[in-house]
Amino acid sequence: MICRSKHFWLIVKEKFNRAPSDFLLRSLSSTTRNIRENRLALDLVRQSSSCILWRNFATRTNWGVRKRTLFPKLFFIEDRPSMSAIEHEETLAPLRLAVQEQGNLVRKLKEEKADPVTIKAAVTELKARIKSLELKVLELEPKEEKFDRLKMEDLLKQKFFYDISFSIYGGVAGQYDFGPLGCAVKNNIIDEWRKFFVLEEGIFEVNTSCLTPEPVLQASGHMEKFADYMVKDLKNGECFRVDHLIQTSLEKFIVDSKDREAIAEASKLISQLDNMKKDDYQAIIDKYSFKSPLTGNDLSEPIEFNLMFSTNIGPAGLLRGFLRPETAQGIFVNFKRLLEFNGGKLPFAAAQIGKAFRNEISPRAGLIRVREFDLAEIEHFVDPDDKAHPKFDDVQQVELPLLSACNQMDGKSPVSIAVGEAVSKGLIANQTLGYFMTKTFLFLKHIGINMDKVRFRQHMSNEMAHYASDCWDAECKTSYGWVECVGHADRSAFDLTHHTNATNVKLVAEKKLASPKKVKVMECLPNKAKIGKAFKQDSKVIITHLAQIGEEEASALKEQLATGSSVTLSIDNKRVTLSAEMLTVKEYEKTVHVEEIIPSVIEPAFGIGRIMYSLFEHSFREREGDEQRTYLSLPPSVAPYKCSVLPLSGNTEFAPFTRTISSSLRQLGVSHKVDESSGSIGRRYARTDQIAIPLGVTIDFDTLKEPHSVTLRERDSLEQVRLPVDMVASVVNDVARGVITWEDVKQTYPKFEQQEATK
Ligand code: AMP
Repeated sequence: MICRSKHFWLIVKEKFNRAPSDFLLRSLSSTTRNIRENRLALDLVRQSSSCILWRNFATRTNWGVRKRTLFPKLFFIEDRPSMSAIEHEETLAPLRLAVQEQGNLVRKLKEEKADPVTIKAAVTELKARIKSLELKVLELEPKEEKFDRLKMEDLLKQKFFYDISFSIYGGVAGQYDFGPLGCAVKNNIIDEWRKFFVLEEGIFEVNTSCLTPEPVLQASGHMEKFADYMVKDLKNGECFRVDHLIQTSLEKFIVDSKDREAIAEASKLISQLDNMKKDDYQAIIDKYSFKSPLTGNDLSEPIEFNLMFSTNIGPAGLLRGFLRPETAQGIFVNFKRLLEFNGGKLPFAAAQIGKAFRNEISPRAGLIRVREFDLAEIEHFVDPDDKAHPKFDDVQQVELPLLSACNQMDGKSPVSIAVGEAVSKGLIANQTLGYFMTKTFLFLKHIGINMDKVRFRQHMSNEMAHYASDCWDAECKTSYGWVECVGHADRSAFDLTHHTNATNVKLVAEKKLASPKKVKVMECLPNKAKIGKAFKQDSKVIITHLAQIGEEEASALKEQLATGSSVTLSIDNKRVTLSAEMLTVKEYEKTVHVEEIIPSVIEPAFGIGRIMYSLFEHSFREREGDEQRTYLSLPPSVAPYKCSVLPLSGNTEFAPFTRTISSSLRQLGVSHKVDESSGSIGRRYARTDQIAIPLGVTIDFDTLKEPHSVTLRERDSLEQVRLPVDMVASVVNDVARGVITWEDVKQTYPKFEQQEATK
């Protein structure tokens, strides 16, 4: 589309990812005399997601000062015009409708119990439409004018918050080392998490082994299901996650192509990638003749790759093991002990904070997709018929931004709903799930996540993990898009059932019956003396096995003993034959007051690295009017140091005050940084801002006068107060622990005015 005039050419190219700001558009209209043309130009810009503006009339050194010279100029303009919500909705309406129509079709097919292949195809199409809608929504949202990821990453790297591991050897993708500052922030997030969940909710914290034997992961389903597809460079063996490779290659295809239909088809394929299987991937690779992006070599066919790191436990190599892909299994296998610890009663919860390992095929996006990361998981065990939470009333008014599966099917945006209402309407499956989602919401807020950039997205039925029955991800918006930071899953009885089946150890709880009932019991009674004599040291295993035999098997043994003189059992992969003298199966009636139930499990799983990364993005700032002065606006509770102590100059009379204040802070356990280096105070403040220190104590010439006082500066507002030297440590401590806020400090102490000069 080209719009020509005497004054300017407006060339709109759909694939060019930039558009002019309103400011420019206003300037543009005011400099053009032809009103109709102006209108057209503005409409073109507004309709297009991107454009290049080419003007060949007067250039400006800055907007408003016109030079006389006339020459062509190509402008690449940074900002997108901020369309009104109505205009956005007009653009989104057809996409929403497409999603809604497909959502209705899926519902209809499910109601009519259509064949699974047809339903699956319809759901795949639905997810593709949802993805297109989501991409458009993201595209239309005003760009974060202030956020510059490279600048932020530079700061984090330069100050050694974290960096790629083994960097002096060239680094390893997907592995990161945390420096003193990153380590402190991570530990502070974990400390707050402990207070928020373990302490406040009375959760039992455990610490179990990372090295997990194969049978455990066989039972949990990870051996079979924990996999992604990859392709290999046929010449050098380099591996690529197939969906990522196809996405990048299709994006490149779109940029290079001029054929609108081909572009539309490629865009559609990108949105369907999540739901594809091996043959679909292969078909795309064949169709577009995709090669290795690094060498141009041919690629292998897609191979399913299990993401767990395998190893051998012990020198003989007889026990195959894996580094755990989640911490949850360590809790499930200890369920019996934990239930005992809680006096045999439900509900209760156990938590674990620790490393998880996933051999991601192509780790990327910094801390967001890594191979070794910190997880904080809670497994809440609850009666499957009563998932009420005792503290639900405390939170039911809290409004959560919910993007339900249903709303995704209808192409709608997240809706703010009180959690009480969401649970009572059945949108969130039960109170316990709702309770933990709310706690997560409050926790993210507490540690400084921007709550305008949080949503809870419900999984669609075909998206849920193999163990789950309802799932909601707390997602944070970052420059990489919406990122799952905390998964909330109702894992039902999946894990305990499978570990019970695999081990014959009953992972069940007892539930009191409303009224006692009579039941028939089949019990295997071993003749211990006879078994002991015949089987010696193996007899203990046999007797334990007999005690665990269930109703059905016992009944079968009874029948066998009635017709023959012995029975043969398989115990620990050995065949054991017991004579009729060694075993009797007794049948009788007994009155029971309790029944055995397999508890359901509600799990919130927090990816600490992803939360931390989102927090960095959400708190990265530039000082107004000085882009070079960047800082991290972390709340005091998670900031690596709570305050700095800065003598105004190298004057020796300041030194005793510096020492005294530092010592008082140390006694209170307040982390702080003393900076006695030379350089202007403004410059030193700027340095402490960069590493997120929220408060700064300055010792100046007035400090030397009686009564001795210092200034206290707050990082975000740059405001300062003056307060007595002997008060400053406890004030800082109170702010750091959240007992008081900066507002309280300002109310209590007089304001101090001083220039913030960096020179
Ligand atoms: P999942 O068990 O897959 O639901 O993961 C639980 C949480 O772990 C997610 O919500 C993420 O925050 C985090 N997580 C999963 N995989 C990775 C990864 N490769 N790198 C960093 N964090 C991850």
